[in-house]
Amino acid sequence: QAKQSGKGRYTFYVNEMSKDALQFLRMDAALRRAMERKEFHLVYQPQVSIADGRIIGFEALLRWQPPGEAVIPPDQFIGLAEETGLIVQIGEWVLQTACHQLVAWQRAGLCPDDIKMSVNLSATQFRQADMVDTVRRVLSASKCPARCLVLEITESVIMDSPESTVEILNALSSFGLQLAIDDFGTGYSSLSYLKRFPIHTLKIDRSFIRDISIDGNDAEIVKAVIALAHAMNRNIIAEGVEDSVQLDFLRHHGCDQAQGFYFGQGIVHEEAAAVLSRQQLPFPAIRAA
Ligand code: C2E
Ligand code: MG
Ligand code: MG
Ligand code: MG
Repeated sequence: QAKQSGKGRYTFYVNEMSKDALQFLRMDAALRRAMERKEFHLVYQPQVSIADGRIIGFEALLRWQPPGEAVIPPDQFIGLAEETGLIVQIGEWVLQTACHQLVAWQRAGLCPDDIKMSVNLSATQFRQADMVDTVRRVLSASKCPARCLVLEITESVIMDSPESTVEILNALSSFGLQLAIDDFGTGYSSLSYLKRFPIHTLKIDRSFIRDISIDGNDAEIVKAVIALAHAMNRNIIAEGVEDSVQLDFLRHHGCDQAQGFYFGQGIVHEEAAAVLSRQQLPFPAIRAA
């Protein structure tokens, strides 16, 4: 093998590339078909206020369920949908579905109007020239109050082109919706941009929460991010909270909100409606003190 001719190696690479290209085309076709056949759905993960355990919102998370197969998580297809651009169509469907769902809960009297719906926006979606219009259109068509919507973007989306980003974020926040930075701490964001941008919430990434009680560095980072958020008058939410030790740490250091398996995974809309109507989480996670 090592003594293979240049030509042989070339063929080898071409074959590898075409295999990848083929796989890419197959996945793209499968995703397009999945859109047409309505194989996507959303699950809703509760977000709670640490001070009193109240549900303050849900994050809408995309799922792909091909008939007769296991559910496919977003990490396995969003990257590809980003590359092909199909994420724009999928993302608009997500936004519409999430907004309609929230309004349906509000109309059914299940949902006080301070409960918010968070929706993830990918980089490709964010950079669409008509993205701001799309959000405006979906809000008005669904009659979802803008103040009930939170759009989550990552640090890399912001830092990719900070000057144009600030205009887009200003336009979005002029509707009255809120903006959150997702996976905060895993990318590079300049603190000066953070201060200038109309960001309401920092979501500290779950990689810092995971070992909070055994890794002194993580504990210090989390404390620093909470302090930073509060110094800038921003809301802070901890992602990936899985146990009461993590929750106690966060509460002790003044973190505002939490989201994670300790309170519940993403649940289908019927289950979320049941949780809302009981006004409590399915798990005896935290109670008002
Ligand atoms: P994300 O926005 O940071 O969402 C949080 C992810 O962490 C979700 O994974 C959630 O199920 C998972 N998670 C929540 N709590 C815990 C916990 O306590 N422990 C652990 N181990 N995991 C937890 P999911 O649903 O697989 O989504 C993965 C990523 O895919 C999301 O990360 C987001 O970046 C992306 N994504 C999901 N839905 C959409 C969507 O509709 N549009 C776009 N553009 N991206 C989406
Ligand atoms: Mg998110
Ligand atoms: Mg996140
Ligand atoms: Mg993430």
